[in-house]
Amino acid sequence: MKTLSIVVPAYNEEASVEKFASTVFGLPLANPVEIVFVDDGSADGTLETVKRLAAKDSRVRYVSFSRNFGKEAALFAGLTRAKGELVATMDADLQHDPALLAQMAEAIERDGYDCAAACRTTRTGEPALRSYFAHLFYALMDRYSDVSLRDGSMDYRMMTRQVVDAVLALGESNRFTKGIYQWVGFRTKWIECENREREAGVTKWSFWSLFAYSVRGILAFSTAPLQIASLLGILSTCGAFFYMTWVFFKWLIYGDPVSGWPTLICVVLLLGGLQLFVIGILGLYVAGIFRETKRRPLYVVKEEC
Ligand code: UDP
Ligand code: MG
Repeated sequence: MKTLSIVVPAYNEEASVEKFASTVFGLPLANPVEIVFVDDGSADGTLETVKRLAAKDSRVRYVSFSRNFGKEAALFAGLTRAKGELVATMDADLQHDPALLAQMAEAIERDGYDCAAACRTTRTGEPALRSYFAHLFYALMDRYSDVSLRDGSMDYRMMTRQVVDAVLALGESNRFTKGIYQWVGFRTKWIECENREREAGVTKWSFWSLFAYSVRGILAFSTAPLQIASLLGILSTCGAFFYMTWVFFKWLIYGDPVSGWPTLICVVLLLGGLQLFVIGILGLYVAGIFRETKRRPLYVVKEEC
């Protein structure tokens, strides 16, 4: 049987990690299991709890960051350290039903899939506005980016070693894992599941942090905003050309009895706004290039075992 490594990013999850480990080890799984906890610079007792678990049970390993580097960095660090032939990623808060692990392993080992991923069918319990923007994000990504993300896909999936190596081979520092999984390809079995409530603790995602995350996702996998920028430029130039023609003929016919201050100020404001908008989009991509060229490590390790 192939060994299964479970990568678990944990940020202030003191209340959940112990229960997580006992739930997972209590599962009737055929595969030998190891858990790799990634303490993402927690301020509570997450690291101490994880260390205690690791001291008691050799199937638990951990890596701890020097500060909070974010879930994407934590996932990357965990995937780098996972030793198993099968690797799963799961949240520490037990929102990802551990019972699905068996189905995922079966899909890969028996049915020959390369990945098995959970996707939720409902977004119950989520604010309506957040759901609306989430759907909008998936629709936009689907239409305008290099990858087609599945609406409702979660960071809960199992992969073969081959897929993990492909994911790790992508060296970008703006890591949008959902897009990366799609980009590397391979055959994925989607397993539908219900949305579950957190067992303990609180979510680390606010509306605006999710918004920033989706902007990073779009920048990482799409150049459509740049195309929109060019399109806006072309449209406003065409508009200006027609307007100029109209002004010219008006001048020919009527002369220039009143100076057109209102029109002028409207045009100036509109074009000024458009230009700033377009420059802003360019700036986002330039910032992306800037970040990538620095080649900073994704995280700094404080301790691990
Ligand atoms: N997480 C992390 N670093 C962060 C934020 C979150 O490692 O900066 C972990 C967190 O501990 C949890 C998972 O990522 O295991 C998902 O986070 P959360 O439950 O807050 O997100 P939600 O389920 O509300 O989308
Ligand atoms: Mg959660």
